[in-house]
Amino acid sequence: MFLPVEQSSIKKGETFDDTARTLNAMRPDVIVVRHRENGAPARMTELMDCAVINAGDGTNEHPTQALLDALAISIRFGRVEGLKIAICGDIRHSRVARSNAKLLPRLGAEVRLAGPPSLLPSDAPALSIDEAIKGADVVMMLRVQRERLEEELGDAPGEYLSRYGLTVDRLAKAAPGAVVMHPGPMNRNVEIADDVADDPERSLILLQVEAGVATRMACLELVTSS
Ligand code: ASP
Repeated sequence: MFLPVEQSSIKKGETFDDTARTLNAMRPDVIVVRHRENGAPARMTELMDCAVINAGDGTNEHPTQALLDALAISIRFGRVEGLKIAICGDIRHSRVARSNAKLLPRLGAEVRLAGPPSLLPSDAPALSIDEAIKGADVVMMLRVQRERLEEELGDAPGEYLSRYGLTVDRLAKAAPGAVVMHPGPMNRNVEIADDVADDPERSLILLQVEAGVATRMACLELVTSS
């Protein structure tokens, strides 16, 4: 069953906790939660008896995206261990970056985070996009919300690609055989140039989507097969 928040009783003023308790009373086997607030899936685990899968909460985490990214990388390289992975763009607002920054080092990768200074978290080491990409085996670009370009960077929209986006020239500084990833949806020619996104040799973007189906099937299997 699919329950969009805008069609749920939350719109009539029901609290999140009461909605969770109501759903729990229907005795589901699994609930998959995608929610704009950080921590909503964690709160669900306290209120529900069934398995809860986090499908992305606010700016906090997106665990299945990180798992599918690791799968796509392993399909291409046969391993994650020892690879240099640059995650670039709007790190501060990215749950994908946060989950990958946890998972990929656990699998033995070196993760480098880079972005415009105002879109980096205060605790991230300050690498420029070019420093992060140099010698990287994987370059993962993140979506930048267009409205932030003017508000937080003081840039005209067209400027982002040349200053911080992934172009063919920038990618040439990565390791030979480097691949390009993006969790989607892409802002073409903002964080990633068309010819990079569509490069059949280097772009893993559609492989990520395909790996996502298997990864999410595996997660459902895992939590329902005990
Ligand atoms: N699709 C990813 C997410 O849900 C990435 C994005 O929206 O930028 O977080």
